[in-house]
Amino acid sequence: MGQRLKSYVGGRWLEGGGATTPLFNPTTEEVLAEAGTGGVDFQGALEYARGRGNPAMRSLTFAQRGELIGKVANALHARREELIEISVASGGNTRGDAKFDIDGAIGTLAHYAEVGKKLGDRRTLIDGAQEPLGRNPRFAGQHLLTPFSGAAVHINAFNFPAWGFGEKAAVAWLAGMPVVTKPATSTALVAHRVAQIVVESTALPEGAFTFLCGGIGDLLRHLTCQDVVAFTGSSQTARSLRVHETLARHAVRFNVEADSLNAAVLGPDVDRDSKTYDMFLLEVTREMTQKAGQKCTAVRRIFAPEAAVGRVKEDLIAQIKAVRVGNPATKEVRMGPLATKQQLADVRAGVERLKRAAEATLGDGGRGATLVDVPDGKGYFMAPVLFFSSNAAAPEVHDQEVFGPVQTLMPYSGRAEEAARWVNLGGGSLVASVYTDDKDFAQELVARIAPFHGRVYLGCDKIADATLGSGAVMPQMLHGGPGRAGGGQELGGLRGLEFYLQRTAVQGLKPLLEKIL
Ligand code: NAP
Repeated sequence: MGQRLKSYVGGRWLEGGGATTPLFNPTTEEVLAEAGTGGVDFQGALEYARGRGNPAMRSLTFAQRGELIGKVANALHARREELIEISVASGGNTRGDAKFDIDGAIGTLAHYAEVGKKLGDRRTLIDGAQEPLGRNPRFAGQHLLTPFSGAAVHINAFNFPAWGFGEKAAVAWLAGMPVVTKPATSTALVAHRVAQIVVESTALPEGAFTFLCGGIGDLLRHLTCQDVVAFTGSSQTARSLRVHETLARHAVRFNVEADSLNAAVLGPDVDRDSKTYDMFLLEVTREMTQKAGQKCTAVRRIFAPEAAVGRVKEDLIAQIKAVRVGNPATKEVRMGPLATKQQLADVRAGVERLKRAAEATLGDGGRGATLVDVPDGKGYFMAPVLFFSSNAAAPEVHDQEVFGPVQTLMPYSGRAEEAARWVNLGGGSLVASVYTDDKDFAQELVARIAPFHGRVYLGCDKIADATLGSGAVMPQMLHGGPGRAGGGQELGGLRGLEFYLQRTAVQGLKPLLEKIL
């Protein structure tokens, strides 16, 4: 066994006793570490965060909170190379994949540090203008937003151990709440090092940061109406938490970021020799292979006009084939293994289910014949699989998120109305991307798909050089989607703070409201 990872609870590092879970290098299958939270006093951990961390955080101004978030961002930035190395070894990430996660965390923290600076010397937010409430103009009302007095519990998925932590913690800290964060155990090595750096930075007041490395024990049983839970992970786990007795009893505020069958639509106006077409091919291929397709925002379904779908298939196959798969530590490799053995089994099962509805035109769920620098038979590898289904209505394609390098290409008539119908069959997604230079097509599609999506990304030739692609979540913009995607909302600049704040209507004498608010 490798090192035993520790939790940071009650202001000190604690080695979990009892049974532990091994963490593997997904390329070599070597055990790198083990983690467990046996013996952790979860109730005590929550009470410490509430009792120490909450008063300390809420007493700071937004500017002061922003300053400490900035210090955390700087501390992580100073250890960026080390974090990238750990991410490559423990998550099957190429250097590019690792940067996506780690720079995403640093960038989001830095963004919220700036938001705090702009909000300045206040501790709470005012929502809207004062409202006159009676015949006497001296009776008025005002909406006030104050941080809850408990702890912000964050549960993260395996695929973004750094960004998942950073994007949630930045917002909670800025709102004025302490954070209790739990990474997915399988890829916790990065999160563990991040946690060490956060603690070593001494940027945060006592109690503002708790890190649980392993199972969450009975923590959720001790929540009250003043705590909140932000969860990212599978819809299956989300479903079990939605009916958690304590969450239900206390109406604990609960945000879910879950599965998503994100779609990409190629507009009927896009010629093969256009910049927009190149952008579409490049970005759709990247969505398939970046982090081996293990991104909540990755494109799963592609819709191309009937007249163009044949050549789109050929071009996509050529682009995907050019991606070298293998040991992510090797420079020319662009796609590594899946993160865990379980992930590999789940993705293979998903590929088998898709085979019932669609034809595998590239790959078959196997390792592929040309892995670069990989020990024989080792590692959780799967070569990219591109499916083709002539039936865009096939339910299998729209019903299951295969969380790996797997996409399905389908034809549509070229009409926005029809594209929208298929896209919306995903049942609510994080993001849909549309590649077109036709403003009318874009307008009609946006109007039809917006209610089913948290974000719509419009790719066109004029921004081809200016974007990181549809998969990149920007802190200024909302992240989350309706339905299958969990119904949650995160980030979006100031909007993200509202999750951690209670909106209270304060009514009374107008001059009194002006004075106290
Ligand atoms: P998962 O198995 O649902 O696990 C997610 C987290 O929940 C982990 O930290 C896990 O801890 C924890 N967990 C599991 N059972 C729990 C329980 N009963 N009570 C409390 N916590 C529990 O999901 P995953 O495999 O890590 O992540 C993949 C999924 O996440 C994909 O479906 C993907 O679409 C989704 N995802 C969504 C977003 C988004 O923003 N919408 C982002 C990333 C990923 P352990 O690891 O210790 O079991």
